[in-house]
Amino acid sequence: MADQPIIRIDNLHKTFGQLEVIKGVSFDVMPSEVVVLIGPSGTGKSTLLNCINLLIKPSKGSIWLDKKEITAPGTDQDKVRQRIGMVFQEFNLFNHLNALENVSIGMCRVLGMAKQDARQKAMRELLRVGMAEHADKYPSQLSGGQKQRVGIARALGMDPHVILFDEPTSALDPELTGEVLSVMKKVAADGMTMVVVSHEMGFAKEVADRIIFMEGGHIVEQAPPGDFFAKPQTDRARQFLSMLN
Ligand code: ADP
Ligand code: MG
Repeated sequence: MADQPIIRIDNLHKTFGQLEVIKGVSFDVMPSEVVVLIGPSGTGKSTLLNCINLLIKPSKGSIWLDKKEITAPGTDQDKVRQRIGMVFQEFNLFNHLNALENVSIGMCRVLGMAKQDARQKAMRELLRVGMAEHADKYPSQLSGGQKQRVGIARALGMDPHVILFDEPTSALDPELTGEVLSVMKKVAADGMTMVVVSHEMGFAKEVADRIIFMEGGHIVEQAPPGDFFAKPQTDRARQFLSMLN
């Protein structure tokens, strides 16, 4: 039997007041697939991720996670969010907790793990992102790249079915971007299903299974990176690519 998608988005719309930001977007994400979402700013990429995570309620359309419609009334939203990891541009770490505690707190509070078990698992996740030796440091003692690696360890610790990344390297100095992208690459190679909003075209070329180019609330074009970058099919995609460096 063919694999079922992890995520299915069907005819999604989102309107803020008078402003229609997402205008009928549909796509599937298959298990272990890495989808990189690109497009000009203000195009609805963050809104789309936040709809998947149920932080924003769509105006119309449906979203499915693991064969269940999560936009249906009566959905257990907390349970859905447990299965969806989020990595944000601004890291969103707790400043009063050290790296290990930032990773373990969700395991204790949300998954109900015993403190010792959570600490052990958090340590394994910090090891995965190359941050084990900084486990007892507080966010103020870490570089931006290190903070983001803790953010990724925190997402991994919840054993999510998919991780959504919203411009995970945009707040970083260029010399710190590489360490975060290489951790993301490793997570992808381990088979994690990922949806990544990013302007890092090198990463997209190397790691994405599929590029989705959005503009003005629509998917304008989608293709494997080899095809998308070598021969974009639309003027808008060509124009967007020519504006990046
Ligand atoms: P992107 O991530 O592609 O840059 P966003 O999804 O953040 O785009 O935003 C798309 C549009 O929706 C923008 O015009 C933004 O100002 C608007 N928008 C986003 N969130 C809200 C909100 N909560 N209320 C009103 N307008 C919003
Ligand atoms: Mg955004």
